[in-house]
Amino acid sequence: MQEFFPVEAGMLEEDRRVMEAIAPRLAAIDAVRDHNQWKMLHAFTQCGVAAHHLSGTTGYGYDDAGRERLEEVFSLLIGSEDALYRHHFMSGTHTLAVALFGVLRPGDTLLSATGRPYDTLHGVLGLKGNKGQGSLAEFGVRYRELAMTEEGLDLPAIAEAAPACRMLYLQRSRGYAARRALSLEDIAAAAQTAKAANPNIIVMVDNCYGEFTQTKEPTQCGADLMAGSLIKNPGGGIAPTGGYIAGKAPLVEQCAHRLTAPGVGAEIGCTGDMLRQMYLGLYFAPAVTAEALKTSVYASALFGRLGFAASPAPQEDRNDIITTITLGSAARLCALCEAVQQMSPVDSFATPEPAPMPGYDSEVIMAAGAFTQGSSIELSCDAPMRPPYMAYLQGGLNFAASRAAVLLAAQNIRKLPEGAI
Ligand SMILES: *Cc1c(COP(=O)(O)O)cnc(C)c1O
Repeated sequence: MQEFFPVEAGMLEEDRRVMEAIAPRLAAIDAVRDHNQWKMLHAFTQCGVAAHHLSGTTGYGYDDAGRERLEEVFSLLIGSEDALYRHHFMSGTHTLAVALFGVLRPGDTLLSATGRPYDTLHGVLGLKGNKGQGSLAEFGVRYRELAMTEEGLDLPAIAEAAPACRMLYLQRSRGYAARRALSLEDIAAAAQTAKAANPNIIVMVDNCYGEFTQTKEPTQCGADLMAGSLIKNPGGGIAPTGGYIAGKAPLVEQCAHRLTAPGVGAEIGCTGDMLRQMYLGLYFAPAVTAEALKTSVYASALFGRLGFAASPAPQEDRNDIITTITLGSAARLCALCEAVQQMSPVDSFATPEPAPMPGYDSEVIMAAGAFTQGSSIELSCDAPMRPPYMAYLQGGLNFAASRAAVLLAAQNIRKLPEGAI
């Protein structure tokens, strides 16, 4: 590493110790990766993916065999009845919005049991007082939320609220909250509790950042519907855009009518020259997610050694690819983001600066020198500029590269002059 980057001897020693300490965790991540890769290959072969499926259609995209086959592969992979797996989704927020508007109707109540959802969903729900934009609130969909407790999900409160609610909404990843990601056991317990109290309730999971971190997905653990972004885990760093919605067939169908138009549904949507990248990205997703998880374990261990609170702890099991590092000052946060940017394969010369972001409530600083704009399966770091200056570090297409980036980021922070902190 020293041959290419200005790593100091002391930091190389830290790196050596961290790598030694986390070796068993890295091996455990490899085991999950291998399982998921075999599952992936099995799904491709079972579905008979053929060379002609990799080239797409134009115009309406009727009878797009490649699109349909890809959605079958994804459904088989995650144990769902049906799926929309398409580049037509513009972001994770768009995908989640299509799912929510797809299945909720005026008078329904959405119950979020993981506290306030991810910042960009606030506008979708109508929680920002955003009028005239056609939020769920404007369409008469009611919203309730349950805060998570110290122990996690508040199951008694879910049981009490469920009978009056149409949807139980769970955000698997921590998002911009200082909590743990939900485990599959957490999701199963919440789903079971809600359904015991109301058999008709729809359990929906925001699965962004969760895919392939475990050997199962929420649709195999009680979720009726889940959604995620293809510029995160399932796109493998290769899908240039897109999202997915998967779950029970009638629900996915409702979402399809929302994505296109009521009465049209999933039959249209041309794929142009996207399919090869979509297939290839999905195929690589278990391995790429594993690289990101290794980066998370490494960052947590290294920053922990240097005295910063990092979560999850290195030895903890992971259900998303995010690591939070509490840096306690704006200067340290900027130093971390600058190093991540400098160590990016694209735009390494840029300097990230805090700025307002559409959908986010405070200024945000983001470091991302990515092949795909805004992709956070690639090593990226972002943070709302507010105390306690908690950095959200995620992604890493390649652990060797990310490890060097994280090491140099730690070195940058260590070298900040006392007065600058
Ligand atoms: C990224 C993310 C979203 C929103 O996705 P965008 O692509 O940023 O619109 C929603 N929920 C969670 C948990 C996320 O990580």
